[in-house]
Order: sequence, then structure tokens, then C-alpha cells
Amino acid sequence: MDAQVDEREDVPNGETAATRTPSTDRPERLMVIVAHPDDADFGPAATLARWIRAGSVAHLVCCTSGDAGSDDPETDPLELARLREGEQRAAASHVGYEGVTFLHRPDGALENDLPLREQLVTLIRTFKPDAVLTMDPTVIIHRDGYIQHTDHRAAAMAAIDAVYPAARNPMAFPHLARAGLAAHDVRWVYLFWSAEPTVWVDVSETIDVKVAALREHRSQLRQPDELETRIREWATESGAEIGTVAAESFRVVDLG
Ligand SMILES: [Zn+2]
Repeated sequence: MDAQVDEREDVPNGETAATRTPSTDRPERLMVIVAHPDDADFGPAATLARWIRAGSVAHLVCCTSGDAGSDDPETDPLELARLREGEQRAAASHVGYEGVTFLHRPDGALENDLPLREQLVTLIRTFKPDAVLTMDPTVIIHRDGYIQHTDHRAAAMAAIDAVYPAARNPMAFPHLARAGLAAHDVRWVYLFWSAEPTVWVDVSETIDVKVAALREHRSQLRQPDELETRIREWATESGAEIGTVAAESFRVVDLG
């Protein structure tokens, strides 16, 4: 049972009424940290597109290059990584990111280890985001139909651990601060694909951007038209929560 549905009010004609309010917050500087090329486009791409068009600046970090993303065991992983990085850069240009960083960690073997956390702290202190967006790492099973990839959980945990306490603590990886990378406080963490969303963003104007970005991941798409239908259905479902055509939802942590 979806807790969100419980909170909708039944109305006499049998329809449901929106009981939530769309978020009007827009962080100025955004860093999206994900495991694979395409995660950010399946995730918060329409929200990013909305905020970037309104003036925000965003940077995308992919911990791996998706080098295990093929059904053919004869695939050259380096070739696949190169292909997928190109697809992600093309998708990112639809969304409007100012840049994309690939950390080249092995796909399928990502660990929330100290070297990864240090890389993320370095990026956070360099870009200085107000908000970091990543997957909700507490989700293992989603809607009884999806298992959250181990790399997603590792990337999300690493992102959260990098935000707090490491990025804001000059004694974490102290050589960074000594080299001039001052501690940085990230104000908000936006977790997508969460079972416990707290914030809904109206993406009626930018859902088409998300679809266009997703279509760039050609190596991963067997049936792009069916995918588009599914993506639009999910956005419509979320939109019904706030009475808009389309929405994306997040669990937001305010570190004030
Ligand atoms: Zn993924």
C-alpha cells in the first residue's frame, strides 16, 4: 500500500483530489551524484531542467561509466564506457548541466569507500552546491517490483556521507583544506526514487526534456516508445498528488 494514496481525499464523483502543494523552492547550485550514466535522467531530469531554465547551475557526477550495461558478455567494457559517457553528455546537454564528471569506478562493484568519499568531497568543495541530489539509499525494494541496484545504494550512501559530515569538516581529509579546498556546507539533500517523498516539483513544462534526455541513452533502450509511455505515466501519477500534469517527488533533508 502506498502511503501517499492514503492521504488523498475521496471526492463524491469518485475521483481523487490533490492534497499537496507543489514546492516553489529552487536551490541555486545543484550537484547530482549517481552511479551510472542514465540514472540522473530516469531520476530528477525534469526538475533539473526546470530549475536550470529558471537560473540554477547544475553539475552531474557519475561514479561509474556503466561499463557492465550490456547483455552481451563479449562486449568490450572500455568501448561501452566510452559510448555511454557520450550518451550521458548528450543527455546532459538537453537538461542543461554546466558539466559532467565521470569517476570511472567499476560498474557493478561500486563501494562507499573512503577514496570515493574523498573524490566526492573534493567535487563538493570545488563546485559548492546548495543542494545535492542522489537516490534514496534506504530503498532496497521499490514498489514490490524493483530492486535498487547495489551501485545506486553505494553511490547514494557515499554522496550522503560526503555531504555530512565530511564536506563541512575541515579535519576530514585534512590535506584538502590545507591545499585550499575549504569546508563547504551543503544545505539540502534531495533523495529521488524514495518511498517516503516529502516534496513534489511541478515538471509539466519540462517532462519533454526528460524524455529527450532519456532517448539519448540508446545503448540501454530496447523499446524507447514504451519507456516514454512509462515515464510519462509515472510523472502523471506524481502530478496527481499536487494537481499538475506532471511532477517528480523527493525526500528532502534540510541541514539548515
Ligand atoms: Zn543505474
